[in-house]
Amino acid sequence: IIEIRHLQKHFGSLQVLNDIDFNIEKGEVVTIIGSSGSGKSTMLRCINMLETPSGGEILFHGKNIAERGIDVNQYRSRVGMVFQNFNLFANKTVLQNCMLGQIKVLKKSKEEARERAMMYLRKVGMEAFANAGSVQLSGGQKQRVAIARALCMQPEVLLFDEPTSALDPEMVGEILDVIKELAQENMTMVIVTHEMAFARDVSTRVVFMDEGVIAEQGTPQQIFGAPRQERTKEFLSRYL
Ligand code: ATP
Ligand code: MG
Repeated sequence: IIEIRHLQKHFGSLQVLNDIDFNIEKGEVVTIIGSSGSGKSTMLRCINMLETPSGGEILFHGKNIAERGIDVNQYRSRVGMVFQNFNLFANKTVLQNCMLGQIKVLKKSKEEARERAMMYLRKVGMEAFANAGSVQLSGGQKQRVAIARALCMQPEVLLFDEPTSALDPEMVGEILDVIKELAQENMTMVIVTHEMAFARDVSTRVVFMDEGVIAEQGTPQQIFGAPRQERTKEFLSRYL
């Protein structure tokens, strides 16, 4: 679905992504692991058009997303993103959060948008909170709403940037369970995470990033069981 070729990103003189080649195929669950500052978020942000690459290209179904004429909001409905800090619309209810994009971007009727919103809120266990203000929710509840909101757009790919890092420990499991369920339904996902046990369970492929490059990638068995690179071993040893 997505093909990344020679992706480069620098901020001033700081080279953050250095010649990344990376593909995402339909049905894959790719987890991205790596130290702080290795460029994981920057890569997801480039894929979601939140950052402009300094070089290289990102193709979505063969079409360069940097081309003029690409509608960013349409693209983001196809390639959705869930953030560490939820990014809900604070002055809107849970239901409104899930309806807005469907009406504005997908041009759905209110009725249709509401119906689909309720369906996905039910899926993440937040149906009872539909009319609650989003500021009143706990972190775990906010993140479940953020996932429902993304699903409402019926994306082809969902990107997650550390979806559990801002949560209290007792709420981490519920979010990981929602993502695991999506994986079982063959949702195509790219997940940046520091939850290694989760990455081992859920991934079809694990990508280890280090200093702006993909240092190693493989199946979870290979990466966690028999890492080839010294720096992968060193990184993983910190989680033992
Ligand atoms: P973490 O695990 O801490 O989230 P990360 O792998 O997601 O780390 P990035 O957020 O992609 O890392 O950041 C990579 C590097 O780019 C860091 O050194 C960061 O300070 C720098 N960086 C990121 N965004 C910007 C920006 N907008 N302006 C300047 N530097 C930036
Ligand atoms: Mg990050």
